Amino acid sequence: MERTLVLVKPDGVQRNLIGKVISRFEHAGLKIVALKMLKPSKELAAKNYPDSNEWYTKVGERSIGTFKSMGIDVKKKFGTDEPVQIGKTIKGWLVRFLSSGNVVAMVLEGNNAAAHVRRLVGETDPLKASTGSIRGDFSIDDVILGNTLNRPIVNVVHASGNSQEAVGEIKIWFTEKEMLSYVVDTDKVYYKEW
Ligand code: ADP
Repeated sequence: MERTLVLVKPDGVQRNLIGKVISRFEHAGLKIVALKMLKPSKELAAKNYPDSNEWYTKVGERSIGTFKSMGIDVKKKFGTDEPVQIGKTIKGWLVRFLSSGNVVAMVLEGNNAAAHVRRLVGETDPLKASTGSIRGDFSIDDVILGNTLNRPIVNVVHASGNSQEAVGEIKIWFTEKEMLSYVVDTDKVYYKEW
């Protein structure tokens, strides 16, 4: 049994998508064990994303790759083609965005919860996200539009990357006391012998 963190980001809240997002997870059989709405401080928003060169590189390279494939000069936009520097700029946008309005934070529990949630959420860039995934169905944003407007991609939800990251992220948003243990009928379907 595993737990993972999901946030409905400010764009999802503004677009009245909270219920639709939660229902995707409920329908799959994941159990909500903690849930709250809050307006994160800049400090809290910053904690949600790693301060590591590995993460900055991943995010920066996403922009570099997309700009390259479109034949657009990434240096003109960011003043550099260094992935880490570009990643740091994007983290600044993310902190500003996530702390700009209310978010809904939740902890979901179930078999392979982190991996199933990532599958249901879809690719980071909605342009690449499969139809049927939350980002594929509920966003028409992409890297170029976001970067052009000096903001992160608005893709409705955040979800922990894997079960290990989930452990750390859950602690950022919830105390142990805020997480509830209870049984639902779905448990009786998945977690028993037939
Ligand atoms: P995910 O949210 O799918 O785990 P990442 O951890 O790589 O993806 O990035 C965190 C968030 O930062 C993304 O959900 C998206 O909002 C934003 N983001 C990532 N890469 C870029 C980029 N190159 N340009 C703009 N925003 C980005």
